Amino acid sequence: MYEDILLEVKRPGQYIAKEWNAVGKDFDAALIKFALIFPDLYEIGMSNLGVRIIYGLLNSISDAVCERFFAPDIDLEKILRLNKREILSLDSRRRLIEFDLAGFSLGSELGYTNVLNILDLAHLPLRARERGHNYPLVIAGGPCTLNPEPMHDFFDLFVIGEAEELLLEVTDTYRKYKDAYKSGKMPKSELLCILSKIEGVYAPSLYDVDYDGQGVIKRFVPNRDGVPLKIRKRFVRDLNSSYFPKDWIVPNVQIVHDRITLEVMRGCPNRCRFCQARSHYFPLRYRNQDAVVDLADSLYKCSGYEELSLSGLSVSDYPCLEGLLTGLISLFKPLGVGLSLPSIKAKLIIGKVSSLIAKFKKTGLTFAPEAGSKRLRDLLAKDFNSEEFSQALKEAYSCGYQHVKLYFMIGIPGEKDEDLDAIIDFSVKASDLRKEIKQPAATVNLSVSNLIPKPHTPLQWAAMIDLDNMKRRQDYIRERSLKRKRLKISFHNPKMSFLEGVFSRGDRRLSEVILNAFNKGARFDAWSSSFNFDLWDASFRDAGIDPCFYLKEKAIDEFLPWDFIETGVDKAFLVEEFNKTIAR
Ligand code: SF4
Repeated sequence: MYEDILLEVKRPGQYIAKEWNAVGKDFDAALIKFALIFPDLYEIGMSNLGVRIIYGLLNSISDAVCERFFAPDIDLEKILRLNKREILSLDSRRRLIEFDLAGFSLGSELGYTNVLNILDLAHLPLRARERGHNYPLVIAGGPCTLNPEPMHDFFDLFVIGEAEELLLEVTDTYRKYKDAYKSGKMPKSELLCILSKIEGVYAPSLYDVDYDGQGVIKRFVPNRDGVPLKIRKRFVRDLNSSYFPKDWIVPNVQIVHDRITLEVMRGCPNRCRFCQARSHYFPLRYRNQDAVVDLADSLYKCSGYEELSLSGLSVSDYPCLEGLLTGLISLFKPLGVGLSLPSIKAKLIIGKVSSLIAKFKKTGLTFAPEAGSKRLRDLLAKDFNSEEFSQALKEAYSCGYQHVKLYFMIGIPGEKDEDLDAIIDFSVKASDLRKEIKQPAATVNLSVSNLIPKPHTPLQWAAMIDLDNMKRRQDYIRERSLKRKRLKISFHNPKMSFLEGVFSRGDRRLSEVILNAFNKGARFDAWSSSFNFDLWDASFRDAGIDPCFYLKEKAIDEFLPWDFIETGVDKAFLVEEFNKTIAR
């Protein structure tokens, strides 16, 4: 129980369960006990659609129960450690060891030390090989599993791709062998071999890796018969028949995305060369318009939320978007429910749809040109039309919008200072466009991130710029924007991007670095308030690993640490697209 210490911690409401619509199943009566673990705070985890889907889906199985764990904040961790107490599940305060399966959602490489912290606070050995049949099988899913290798030491299994069908197959198989495994009659390696036959399941202990003198992988092979050489990412074929939560949990405390999130599509019809999400959610699928409206209606009725957001990688490309928005507005406008859209394409605003968008909450418009110059947008294969953008922005300003948010990246291969100037010029133009409708210039918020050439994208072979270069380019933009009062610029922390680059492109040898950093006290590395790069610097040194090795350009014929995973996006296509970027 935590109840006796909750008055000593910040935001105690985040540790109190029994939210509206939370499932309250009988823990002891369930045959399969699944711990769903999100390695960040409750307010982030409950804003994650995947967490809500898995929680609802697993609890819909009659003989299973799924309970949630979130990372305790620093203050609660301190109290737990001081008093030698364990982290417990949110829902009915169970110990992690009481569960059969412990499934982590890995959404960011900067959450890796939190994974170890949760295992440690649950008094589980951190390394998979040190956990026998008395412990739960520890599983990971989520976008980071497109390259699971840096975390290979800590997980028994990775589930690669969309989990809806895959997790059901894992729990079905586990159910069959639970008695034999839990009684110690079936060795763990045998159970892992059986589970590894499920498409999309990767059991890292069943593979051996060797490196050459340069540190490049020269051999990646299964160490048992019958274990697949390649792991094919899973996806649900039909979004309309796949599970979506009908009982929308309403948290007791405010969370980051405090609203209904309604997924209208998975995958993306565009082919931006830097984009990993496209590969992770490949192929493209849509939810039917009628199904979206019905879901929106029932989610509103069961939750009472006054805001609904449509989600998907590129909602602007949803077919019949105008019809969908018309349906949703006629349903929700009389009820006072606001709608919001993620980053949109300019063409969506132009003409008829603008009158619909004008009815949305005016929280600001968001566009992602990614680069200031057309040359680099073409290099990234970014579908962005400047004329449409100008026209759309003018129409939006005429409808009452006063702000616009623009996403840019720096560190694009072949980037020059004139491309950085183009970011400022582009943003100033976007601001000044409002003057054309006889209004003051608009405020433009620029979010400038550092390009990470991620696995399973055409840029995976490209080098990532180093820390000094990231800082120099940020300073360059900062200096040139000093007199532009309408531009508000925020930069991603270069050291965080550097680490994200290393761990997203890394191999098995990095498990030791992550363990070192955890032991030195690294936690919440995605939060600037707790991020401490010095701990990481020392952790790489202690492991004798040069992190810059992972950021170098890679040869096309090199075996990359993630090459055993097939996302469905053809490797020949990635090579062809990469070659187009170097031909420019
Ligand atoms: S960046 Fe956006 S538009 Fe481009 S491929 Fe990725 S999800 Fe699609």
